[in-house]
Amino acid sequence: MIRFEQVSKTYRGGHQALSHVDFHVQPGEMAFLTGHSGAGKSTLLKLISLMERPTAGRVLINGHDLRKIKPSQVPYVRRDIGMIFQDHRLLMDKTVFDNVALPLIIEGYSVQEARKRVVAALEKVGIADKVKHYPKMLSGGEQQRVGIARAIVTKPPLLLADEPTGNLDPKLSMEIIRLFEEFNKVGVAVLIATHDLGLIARLRYRTLTLKDGRMINDGLEDSEL
Ligand code: ADP
Ligand code: ADP
Repeated sequence: MIRFEQVSKTYRGGHQALSHVDFHVQPGEMAFLTGHSGAGKSTLLKLISLMERPTAGRVLINGHDLRKIKPSQVPYVRRDIGMIFQDHRLLMDKTVFDNVALPLIIEGYSVQEARKRVVAALEKVGIADKVKHYPKMLSGGEQQRVGIARAIVTKPPLLLADEPTGNLDPKLSMEIIRLFEEFNKVGVAVLIATHDLGLIARLRYRTLTLKDGRMINDGLEDSEL
């Protein structure tokens, strides 16, 4: 699903954010990506979602070599990826329905067609009763659930989450992780970037650890950060 081969990323100005990173994530796998602030987690996710390009090495997503993707093809590759952000990036002047329907409308679904899928997505994340609410009427945990519904409404085979529990307390954080587990159980690959080591320790998942742009650990063992 995700394959990095000797991937390096140096930003303009000369800062090397990733250095010779090699790993892969299988279809249907769930893994955490961790490391201190500045270790390169966001950069790694941005290379997957085509928001940044590597300086060296090769990134393959769902069989696509991203070096060979023309700008016009970027939306097709992104269609395979559901993105979830710490600040959830909801449109605050739109209802929950409109926020979750947006990816479907962009893909050309009619509002009629979209409605069924939106309701189904909201049911999966447990907030179908909030469909007419505006995000500011929801708690932080509920807003993140809307963000997850928007990410999964197009049924992508890969979910990428960047600090999805960053603003949530431990109980709500675990509820959000349990949701990711539900999607993983039905075959969705999930990669979750987080510096919440307490959260990771309570679960047993493969953990990829970055330090200063290098992949220093890939496995279930405790990492020495
Ligand atoms: P993390 O998500 O683990 O905190 P990042 O991937 O955001 O790490 O950052 C890795 C390194 O790359 C940091 O030193 C950061 O300052 C640098 N960096 C990130 N984005 C940019 C950018 N757009 N331009 C220059 N340097 C950047
Ligand atoms: P938390 O304590 O988890 O941050 P809140 O106190 O913000 O949660 O919200 C608790 C519940 O009340 C949520 O279900 C939310 O949808 C609802 N709620 C909060 N503010 C409003 C509002 N202004 N109008 C309608 N419902 C609201």
